Amino acid sequence: ESIQVKTASKQYPVLVGEKAIQELPELITHEFNHINKILIITDEKVAELHLQSVKQALIKAGKPVLQHIVPEGEHAKTFDVFYECQSYCLSQKLNRKSLIIALGGGAVGDLAGFVAATFMRGIPFMQVPTTLLAHDSAVGGKVAINHPLGKNMIGAFHQPEAVIYDLEFLQTLPLQELRSGFAEVIKHSLIADHDFYQWLKSNIVDLNDITDEQFMTMIKKGISIKAAIVEEDEKEMGIRAYLNFGHTLGHAVEGSMGYGNFTHGESILIGMIYALKLSIKKEGLDFNLEEFIEWVSQLGYRITIPDGLETAILLNLMKTDKKSVNEAATFVLLNQVGSPILMDIADSELIEEMIEMK
Ligand code: NAD
Ligand code: ZN
Repeated sequence: ESIQVKTASKQYPVLVGEKAIQELPELITHEFNHINKILIITDEKVAELHLQSVKQALIKAGKPVLQHIVPEGEHAKTFDVFYECQSYCLSQKLNRKSLIIALGGGAVGDLAGFVAATFMRGIPFMQVPTTLLAHDSAVGGKVAINHPLGKNMIGAFHQPEAVIYDLEFLQTLPLQELRSGFAEVIKHSLIADHDFYQWLKSNIVDLNDITDEQFMTMIKKGISIKAAIVEEDEKEMGIRAYLNFGHTLGHAVEGSMGYGNFTHGESILIGMIYALKLSIKKEGLDFNLEEFIEWVSQLGYRITIPDGLETAILLNLMKTDKKSVNEAATFVLLNQVGSPILMDIADSELIEEMIEMK
């Protein structure tokens, strides 16, 4: 059984489960039999751990399978790597009947998706996520690489043909990456579903000790929340911005720590605490922040703005974040758990709250 994502441009299935990858050949045979070849794009680490089992599963699809391995993490999302991918596609004579499979976390998904979006004006691709964070990034069709002047600044909207989420791949994920991804799970609960938030808070108390069933529950729920928002607002003209909860300060922290030194999720968790404090102050949000902070500290998150990050610099970064449409920084706040709003906030208040979080 699968989750269906229905956007204006495309409808596609998200399959979540142990051994979900085994469903891939059948999906290809049934719905993509016109495909002439398959190119797997993955990173060095994921290639070592999981490429073989994906290739093994793909044998049944009976199509030629190529592979192109890129560097890990943000190093994959560069113009150079993008160019190499395009060169590889051209040299191997891929065309619009070819399928790209993104095997990896959000970085590989963003890169491979952008390669697919631009090669010959767009060819089909599928996401095979291998991180918890990718429950977020693999759904929704935002694909991008980085520019030295800004993260994710060069990209496209290009929805995948399918997302195949095999939970077994998560077993090799380091704790720090699990923690990064879990922050997005928390985000999805806070912006959309109070019961889900309560469930997480009472069931997930040790990231080393999450059962398969719990992974299944939280990933399906997180994806459903994201899918519902993307279905209503594929191109981020309105409510899709709610998905940026915690990201305004989060991106500023992540960027000033230097990408790779501090994970995306750990940064946005700090951003979420900040947005929750602002929500309590500006919107009268009824929320037990102490309990939240206790819970996330126990999970190993940092709850303060890291030393050495200057308030003035963070403020500037928040205001140049592409999600701000005018002079003031636009924030996603909550007036209740599950009920987000957008609000412009004055510099003085932003600074005051940042000082409190040092
Ligand atoms: P990632 O792809 O860099 O993966 C993190 C690290 O984990 C890498 O070193 C990778 O090699 C390793 N890894 C991946 N799977 C593994 C596994 N199963 N076992 C062991 N190691 C594994 O990053 P991520 O955290 O998944 O995603 C972050 C990226 O996603 C950022 O570039 C961010 O901009 C992007 N993102 C995109 C969207 C979107 O909507 N497109 C949303 C959120 C984040
Ligand atoms: Zn995020």
